[in-house]
Amino acid sequence: MSLRLYDSATRSVRDFSPLVPGRVGIYLCGATVQGAPHVGHLRSAVAFDVLVRWLRRGGQDVTLIRNVTDIDDKILDRSAEAGAPWWAWAYRFEREFADAYDAVGVLPPTYEPRATGHVPEMVALMERLVERGHAYVGQGGNVYFDVRSLPTYGSLTRQSLDHLTGPGEDVEPDKRDGRDFALWKAAKPGEPATATWTTPYGPGRPGWHLECSAMAQRYLGDTFDIHGGGLDLRFPHHENEQAQSHAAGYGFARYWVHHGLLTVNGEKMSKSLGNFVTAADALAQTDAVVLRLALATVHYRATVELSEATLAEARTTWERLSGFVVRAAERVGEVPADEVAAIEPDDLPPAFTAALDDDLNVSVALAVVHEHLRAGNTALADGDDDGARQAQRLVRAMLDVLGLDPLSGQWRSVTTSAGAEQTALDTLVRAALTERADARAAKDWARADALRERLTAAGVVVEDSLDGARWTLKGTR
Ligand SMILES: [Zn+2]
Repeated sequence: MSLRLYDSATRSVRDFSPLVPGRVGIYLCGATVQGAPHVGHLRSAVAFDVLVRWLRRGGQDVTLIRNVTDIDDKILDRSAEAGAPWWAWAYRFEREFADAYDAVGVLPPTYEPRATGHVPEMVALMERLVERGHAYVGQGGNVYFDVRSLPTYGSLTRQSLDHLTGPGEDVEPDKRDGRDFALWKAAKPGEPATATWTTPYGPGRPGWHLECSAMAQRYLGDTFDIHGGGLDLRFPHHENEQAQSHAAGYGFARYWVHHGLLTVNGEKMSKSLGNFVTAADALAQTDAVVLRLALATVHYRATVELSEATLAEARTTWERLSGFVVRAAERVGEVPADEVAAIEPDDLPPAFTAALDDDLNVSVALAVVHEHLRAGNTALADGDDDGARQAQRLVRAMLDVLGLDPLSGQWRSVTTSAGAEQTALDTLVRAALTERADARAAKDWARADALRERLTAAGVVVEDSLDGARWTLKGTR
């Protein structure tokens, strides 16, 4: 395998080699299902979806574990405000997340463990940390991780303990050190009994960081290949996950892969700025495939900027890509999906494979797709059917790595209905152009100009050439 990935722990691009050759274990921090998914959640899922698709195309057997945090302070608060049981609240949004991921063509994870289904593993990990002197019991059954007990605490984010200050004002009085963090939260009066589990230290519920350490170990083992998540999770969440697992004596993640965040109209998305875009809003305003393209074609470590301009650009790109694939399939037949799926990285254009192996450089990869698309269009224009078929195979296989094959099961209905619209439009425009040609032949210039103006007003650009009139839609070439 020749993939190189940027490892946030070492802050360097490293050769990626899995612990067990041919198998890759990935843990991705999933959603805390307190409310509806937003476009930032989709960005995270799409970024890792491209990594998974690339690894699988290279023949790797990938196990992707993406958890669901279904118990949490905000879930309890919001469900109480809404008068709903917390578990019903969490499940409702878990389903919304699943629908949103499906809508943008994110492949399902191998498994999606829920925090509430893994409390015994969390308690066992916590007991181990207490036994090894890395955790202690505070008042009423709170259990804290003792950050000073682990000399390497802070290493993931390169922060020395001396420079870390704990939460100032709301520091829990039963902590030994303000920087210690909760492994377990004792049940508080007024909290629902269903949100409480029994432990040797008393009833309560797990802290967020503990959940991920326990679930990663359960499904991927003591040491696994890649831990992923957004840049915003590096501290404290990932630092604390790593501290727990290392203190328990486990190797934990060998590579840390963090994706960049998302801005809307140039600003960080927030409810107070009024630019908060839920997945449902985005999908109501934009075709899912266009949204996917806008998210998947930005480097995973860069910030995705979502705006009318970036979506319009994504739409133009999609129309160009899918338009070629449809024309090529009409001319030379559709290359079967299993043939597209069987093309290995070594048989893809070398520049494409090199770009993805270079820390998933999707913008260079997309430029290679465009080169092959141009070659395919030339082949179509020249009546070179072999060339057109080969271009269709490669363009579709490359796009499949990005989750964007226009004739995949996910997108073919979008592509073919757009193709049918295009055919209907072409029929209408050609009828108007024929009428215009007849008017010109009869020297009825007023009629010919009126027909052309009507087309222009509808956004149709007409170019007269020796072979007759050609048309395009304004802004699409
Ligand atoms: Zn996590």
